[in-house]
Amino acid sequence: MYLDTYTCVLCILQEKETMPHLFLRCNFSKACWSTSSRPPFRIFNSIKDKLNVPFYMEIIILMARSIWSVRNDWTFQQCPPSVQSCKRKFMEKMNTVCLHRAKSSLALAMMECLYGYSFIAVFRRTLR
Ligand SMILES: [Zn+2]
Repeated sequence: MYLDTYTCVLCILQEKETMPHLFLRCNFSKACWSTSSRPPFRIFNSIKDKLNVPFYMEIIILMARSIWSVRNDWTFQQCPPSVQSCKRKFMEKMNTVCLHRAKSSLALAMMECLYGYSFIAVFRRTLR
């Protein structure tokens, strides 16, 4: 497939849009991962260590998918990229996974990770 340009469309670095750049090194993706200075693969270890949850890989995959989706929205539909739209897409996908794909034993922990303990406390109270 031939494209007019292979330059990253999400930042001003004029870097070739490779997978490592798009998902890890791009300033836009770093903002989406909420990091600015960590070396690329340390981002994943940091997510794994800080969250300490068994579904950290789902978080990584869904954030990468959200970055890809924002990139495609900009490339094909001229929807300006924003960190907020990327995080919104991530939350929507995580919600879908929690509600329809996750084992029930993990779904509550995933919701807690997404919304924090206070949301889960309210959610648990409503179930009683
Ligand atoms: Zn970039």
